[in-house]
Amino acid sequence: MLGQMQDSPLLVSQLIDFAAKVYPSQTITTKTVEGELHQYTFKESAKRSKQLAQALLRLGLGEGDVVATMAWNTYRHYECWYGISGIGAVLHTVNPRLFAEQLVYIINHAEDQYIMVDLTFVPLLESIQDLLPSVKGYIFLTDEAHMPETVLKNVHCYETLLAQEDGDMEWPSLDESQASSLCYTSGTTGNPKGVIYSHRSSVLHSWAVCAKSGMGLDASESVLPIVPMFHANAWGLVYATAMAGSRVVLPGPHLDGANICQLINEQKIDFTAAVPTVWTMLLNYLETTGNTIDCLQSVIIGGSAVPRAMIETFEQKYGVEVWQAWGMTELSPLGTINKPQAQHREWDYQRQLDVKVKQGRAVFGIDMTIMDDEGNELAHDGVAFGRLMVKGPWVVDGYFKSKNTALDDNGWFDTGDVATIDASGNMQITDRSKDVIKSGGEWISSIDLENAAMGHPEVLEAAVIGVHHPKWEERPLMIVVPKTPATPPSAEAISEFLTSRVAKWWLPDAIEIVKEIPHTATGKINKVALRTQFKDYVLSTNTEMA
Ligand code: AMP
Repeated sequence: MLGQMQDSPLLVSQLIDFAAKVYPSQTITTKTVEGELHQYTFKESAKRSKQLAQALLRLGLGEGDVVATMAWNTYRHYECWYGISGIGAVLHTVNPRLFAEQLVYIINHAEDQYIMVDLTFVPLLESIQDLLPSVKGYIFLTDEAHMPETVLKNVHCYETLLAQEDGDMEWPSLDESQASSLCYTSGTTGNPKGVIYSHRSSVLHSWAVCAKSGMGLDASESVLPIVPMFHANAWGLVYATAMAGSRVVLPGPHLDGANICQLINEQKIDFTAAVPTVWTMLLNYLETTGNTIDCLQSVIIGGSAVPRAMIETFEQKYGVEVWQAWGMTELSPLGTINKPQAQHREWDYQRQLDVKVKQGRAVFGIDMTIMDDEGNELAHDGVAFGRLMVKGPWVVDGYFKSKNTALDDNGWFDTGDVATIDASGNMQITDRSKDVIKSGGEWISSIDLENAAMGHPEVLEAAVIGVHHPKWEERPLMIVVPKTPATPPSAEAISEFLTSRVAKWWLPDAIEIVKEIPHTATGKINKVALRTQFKDYVLSTNTEMA
């Protein structure tokens, strides 16, 4: 027997229409590229998204055409997310922090027709435009007064295009399985791979983000999405803020500690989200200036493992609750979130922290397990670790333009992460499978070592890589950036600090103090670059693994 309920497609354009109708006066505030604050309402945002849609149609774009953006988190970029996908074109969010060769590769692979670009990135495009045969033109995300001189060909001004349209249109009714957007993985090795989201997957994912057991957005809160719209779908926050009718504050390119602190306090932000590197900058800024962030209630941290010390500082010193999230571009990106269960609230704080450092439980929609190399499922006992496998309606099925499935015979997607899952369903990432240090047949988690070192009061950042060892195959080398470069802690002091925090045989064989650690285009520690930098590093041979 069939149910007899309405069967309307799930489309991202419905989200901005909904926000305009139900929360018309809720505001979106942007710290613009030019530096001023801009503010308008969901109603205006929806109208301008439609003006953009009309302008794109007038340029000859339509269903299935890929339109790229290279832009910061601003109200204009927010409009692009709806204006492009709303007409059935595909929004390709390009990460401008990628190397020029990778940019050329993904723009050509995606066959981008137009690139909508913030002025910051115009010189970058000028340097590669001759290598981009599919690109018919560029739309500068600015007004006439700020249009720069450029050697790019067929350039339009965003505000001028919008001014020619009235925004009086209905969004087309599309098939919900049509592509809405395209995001490439950061690809530290090999070429980046495209993940192509559908309207359906994007809307379902937004519900998971909005749910209280997800990020828990609602209309009473002011949300500051710091995670860039060009990285992993901005963790779903562009769609979820419209779905929840939240007040939105967008930071533009101003992502340093001082600017983020100012935005949080002046805009009375309740909730924000970003990778640990952003929070390291903010916490460092707060520590050196004595500023506080009293209005902030909670923060989502993900993208890399969240150090215990970071959680503790946010919660104990600044009164901000930390929820760790895990996900990846291939998962739209939300997979798990770590929110305390009722009984955890009664535990002493250190015991709560033992749970908070884990990546959390799956949100509804995501099924998750761990497997050994032969594909056998491993126990969910918090001890056994193996390949983290996932399934769900917002998990990739196959990469863009690849004929092969990205799944195994049973429909599981191998995340490339190694993890444990405990009896209460909490998942903990042990490592990326390629970063795990294989020492004498045992595995050492680089993440656990890094987190332990980050607890040292004089350590700003720590990275651990495996270095060839004549006896043990690989041993850990720790690379540390000190908080105060003029008076760094000694390697012995850090090693001493680690002694009570990790197994003896995990202790790094060497600790190097450096000025800076390389990061990838998405703010993660660039282990590939570190491995190249330290490839000839010679360790002593007398390490004992007992
Ligand atoms: P991306 O597609 O750039 O978002 O990268 C996804 C990868 O980032 C995952 O496969 C993990 O290796 C890593 N990652 C994301 N969130 C976390 C987290 N909370 N803890 C540890 N690693 C994470």
